[in-house]
Amino acid sequence: MKPIQSELKAWMKKNKNFQTSYQNIRKEVLDDPSIKHFLANHPELTSEIIDKHLIKLYEYKSQSKQCDRCKSLGGCQNMIQGYSPVLEADNNDIRLSYEKCHKRLEEEQNEQQQKLIQSLYMPKEILQARISDVIQDEHRSNALGKVLDFLEASKQELPKKGLYLYGSFGVGKTYLLGAIANELKKLEYSISLIYMPEFVREIKSSFKDDSFNEKVDFFKKADILMLDDMGAEMQSAWFRDEVLGSVLQYRMMEGLPVFITSNYDLDQLEQELSTTRNGVEQVKAGRIIERIKQVTTDVKLSGPNRRS
Ligand code: ADP
Ligand code: MG
Repeated sequence: MKPIQSELKAWMKKNKNFQTSYQNIRKEVLDDPSIKHFLANHPELTSEIIDKHLIKLYEYKSQSKQCDRCKSLGGCQNMIQGYSPVLEADNNDIRLSYEKCHKRLEEEQNEQQQKLIQSLYMPKEILQARISDVIQDEHRSNALGKVLDFLEASKQELPKKGLYLYGSFGVGKTYLLGAIANELKKLEYSISLIYMPEFVREIKSSFKDDSFNEKVDFFKKADILMLDDMGAEMQSAWFRDEVLGSVLQYRMMEGLPVFITSNYDLDQLEQELSTTRNGVEQVKAGRIIERIKQVTTDVKLSGPNRRS
């Protein structure tokens, strides 16, 4: 090592250009506000030590610190994307290491939270719905009040009852469901959100691969179950009684909340549920409605049709 170093020194002495650019870089590094700040906190670092570690200081200076020069993780300009440099002084030594930057941590947290929403067949715009976008107007204050109460209470403990949100086509029921799901995932609850016709299809297809019990269990046990658009798809008495009935029964017993949206109020839904391919079964439909009442509070959502 020595011969190389002394050779290098000799070469540096000879090479004036190198000397000047070295001095320029040194000045540039020492003038950098972040470096100045670091050195001010570490008066024990002599200029000899600084010179020895100038390359690390230079690297530190050139990197974006905790996203100060980056707009997004994808636009991160650091040598290791998503990592931010950290300088430490220890026993006359200067150490440069890297830690995850804010944007990377944010993204990881987001990914983690997104996993909490098991959403089957919901459009992307719904998964991005925000409660702050749900415009508060006279038609909605009642429903929104109940939603906000639920969210507030969830910070302590999940309420036993969710909401039965009903109202006509296009008033924003599904959107509101998505916004609620997004708020709840921040509290790290697991949510399964499913569009009812797909729920029926999913369960029926589970016979082919023996995953029926597993799937039904999944809907029974999620912290929060959201069933979107309950209504006319219930031609199967078997699905109504053995699947929906048993999922609701389980959740009722365990005090696990359910959110349901529907174009029908509960009386109308009862009529819908009573008519299956088996004929009219008022009592069985009434049983489902009773369970829905146990796991939800019903609230009407009105307003204009927002579909364009
Ligand atoms: P519903 O489920 O009641 O039939 P949707 O939730 O599907 O109605 O809403 C209809 C349309 O209006 C959708 O395109 C949805 O994204 C949009 N929408 C609903 N509520 C809002 C809102 N508060 N802010 C922005 N867009 C909304
Ligand atoms: Mg809808």
